[in-house]
Amino acid sequence: MADEQVRKIVVSCMDRRLHEHIDSKFKDGETLSLSSAGPSEDSVRSVRKAVLEHPEVEAVELLTHEDCGASGVTYAAKYDYSAYAGMGMSQSVFRRIVDRYDGMAFRDKEEITQERGRLLRDRVVRAISRVSEAKVTLDHIGLGSIKMPQGEGEHSLLLLKPSTAKSSETMDRLGLERFSAYIVQAYNLRDVMPDIEMALKAPLHIKKVLADAGPNGFSGRELASLRRLDVHPVRF
Ligand SMILES: [Zn+2]
Repeated sequence: MADEQVRKIVVSCMDRRLHEHIDSKFKDGETLSLSSAGPSEDSVRSVRKAVLEHPEVEAVELLTHEDCGASGVTYAAKYDYSAYAGMGMSQSVFRRIVDRYDGMAFRDKEEITQERGRLLRDRVVRAISRVSEAKVTLDHIGLGSIKMPQGEGEHSLLLLKPSTAKSSETMDRLGLERFSAYIVQAYNLRDVMPDIEMALKAPLHIKKVLADAGPNGFSGRELASLRRLDVHPVRF
């Protein structure tokens, strides 16, 4: 909503394990959340748009996390190409996740996560320093403190606009079980097409894609760009 007060922006991975933690630690009604694969370095466009729409923002918090699948895909693409090729991702995803780490060596995916966080922080600082006073910080979520139910159920991919709402409340309204949804939150679907592709082709067991088609959600035209996927429009 245009009239909401936003003091902080939190940018995180779409990983289904994180959303309750982010809700409880950050979602105080004045914190806008964005999420993508990692988060990806391309989140910078959504962050810039968010600070322009909400000049009152005082802080941008970038959150990487332990055991990140996006870093696992990058690691496979660099060091275990047959495993990567088996996922069937497009050349554009390959270029996006590998080219920027060209010439760099990593012992494991955790090092890729650290590097991606630093790259994103530098890009965000450059992108917003002329238009916002917001302080940019980078933090890392360990998974040790997150209590998740055992077992592998069916998962969903939820495509949402950036919002101050708690994702657990959104999932409740949609009848989705907690921890079952990967959530991508961005202003424009075209900015996160590689993230959506990664989510659907990595072995995340996503059976359903739901997209916000309500008054504050994505336009019919944007949703039409996803027509090759079986997307269920949802309205809030
Ligand atoms: Zn992740």
